[in-house]
Amino acid sequence: AFAPSFSAKKHTALNAALMQDQTGQSSLDPAVIAKYADLPFPKDCILAEYVWVDAVGNTRSKTRTLDASKAKSVDSLPKWNFDGSSTDQAPGDDSEVILRPCRIFKDPFRPRSDGVDNILVMCDTYTPQGEPIPSNTRAKAMESFEGNDDQEVWFGLEQEFTLFNLDQKTPLGWPEGGMPSRPQGPYYCSVGPENNFGRMITDSLYKACLYAGITISGTNGEVMPGQQEYQVGPCVGIDAGDQLMMSRYILQRVCEDFQVYCTLHPKPIVEGEWNGAGMHTNVSTKKMREEGGLEDIKQAIYKLGAKHAEHIAIYGEGNELRLTGAYETASIDQFCYGVANRGASIRIGRDTEAEGKGYFEDRRPSSNADPYLVTGKIMGTIMEDVDV
Ligand code: ADP
Ligand code: MN
Ligand code: MN
Ligand code: MN
Ligand code: MN
Repeated sequence: AFAPSFSAKKHTALNAALMQDQTGQSSLDPAVIAKYADLPFPKDCILAEYVWVDAVGNTRSKTRTLDASKAKSVDSLPKWNFDGSSTDQAPGDDSEVILRPCRIFKDPFRPRSDGVDNILVMCDTYTPQGEPIPSNTRAKAMESFEGNDDQEVWFGLEQEFTLFNLDQKTPLGWPEGGMPSRPQGPYYCSVGPENNFGRMITDSLYKACLYAGITISGTNGEVMPGQQEYQVGPCVGIDAGDQLMMSRYILQRVCEDFQVYCTLHPKPIVEGEWNGAGMHTNVSTKKMREEGGLEDIKQAIYKLGAKHAEHIAIYGEGNELRLTGAYETASIDQFCYGVANRGASIRIGRDTEAEGKGYFEDRRPSSNADPYLVTGKIMGTIMEDVDV
């Protein structure tokens, strides 16, 4: 059975009703769309798409026209606001949520050829009094990162995702109402029309992320048919969260274009022998990357083990369906680590062990986990002064 996406949970009926309208979009003659897309932009202004994270962890956005000179840095961009009562992020009688620009990317969906860039702006969210609102997990994460620049912490985030037809029931490549005739095995890193479903989406995402200025380091087909992965990183500190969140926005926009439904649910198919979806989080500090760094990695793993439950609590909704101890996961209530062990909570790579320095992989976060919470929590835990 299909476990509805955490994001679509409340709106499944509505979405199902909308599908009929949406399929109409793809039948538009591309020449008609091109007529408008090819119009030149006025040189003195740009379009800025302000993106933020909503109450359930999805991205939302709206656009404004700005004087081109305003787009030089996040500090020169104006703050903006939105109606928080429409997103469950503010009460109706005091509905304004303030958007504060944090990070600028190039907009891959509105390219222009005059040497000026339209932009995507990753924002976080505040009350008019200047307090972060409860869903502003970026502000929480900043508490762990601030003052720790000298650690030069890097994160590499592996984002797995699952593609469905617009019915939200049938993964790409699956027969309607049934299961693939062949079990898992041929689909991971696959080629061929019988094995790889959705490659054009992953490839388009890759190109769009590169254009935007996201440090996307690779992609691959995943173990379950219809599942894919891309990796963002290594990114330094809070930038990992900003980049991953913007990459998720781009993923949803690409899927909008392809008219394919994408879910970040950690166990989109619960019946049968199918892998779930994670957001493996690779971590290193400057010391871990230097001679003898393996000792620092082991200390960090010790500290992470002592706080296993606290980490699991913020590693994603529905993760208990995925972390069963099977399908390349460790059980949710056990902490263990190992070299090259994909059934462990934390994996140390062979290269890292052989060289005595490098990084470790926290395999526990689920695909829908909040990257700000995950990176901030790891940073907080490994920076603690604990006798080990
Ligand atoms: P896996 O073998 O688990 O599938 P991937 O190749 O999918 O690993 O992802 C590894 C991620 O780790 C990449 O995003 C990569 O950029 C990142 N990474 C590489 N070196 C480091 C490092 N020293 N610290 C943190 N992340 C790193
Ligand atoms: Mn309005
Ligand atoms: Mn990977
Ligand atoms: Mn993977
Ligand atoms: Mn991995």
